[in-house]
Amino acid sequence: MIVIFLVAVSILLYYLLVARGELTSTEEDVAKTCLNCGTRFQEGETLCRTCKESLKKQCPYCSQMINFGWNYCPNCENKLVGGQES
Ligand SMILES: [Zn+2]
Ligand SMILES: [Zn+2]
Repeated sequence: MIVIFLVAVSILLYYLLVARGELTSTEEDVAKTCLNCGTRFQEGETLCRTCKESLKKQCPYCSQMINFGWNYCPNCENKLVGGQES
């Protein structure tokens, strides 16, 4: 019974790591472009140089700075407002 539990936990951990990795790689590219005007911006910038659109916001759960367009906080993994789930 314990073995089954350990296997289940390993699979769950693996899945979580893979899912996080995929989220990070796909979302990162989106996050580097202003959602409002499409201007590419550099790492660390919080305002779009073209339209002054805010590029980052605070996670309501853990207060970590996160990019607009992210459906999940990469820090606490909570679902963010605006994300859609069926
Ligand atoms: Zn912009
Ligand atoms: Zn968070």
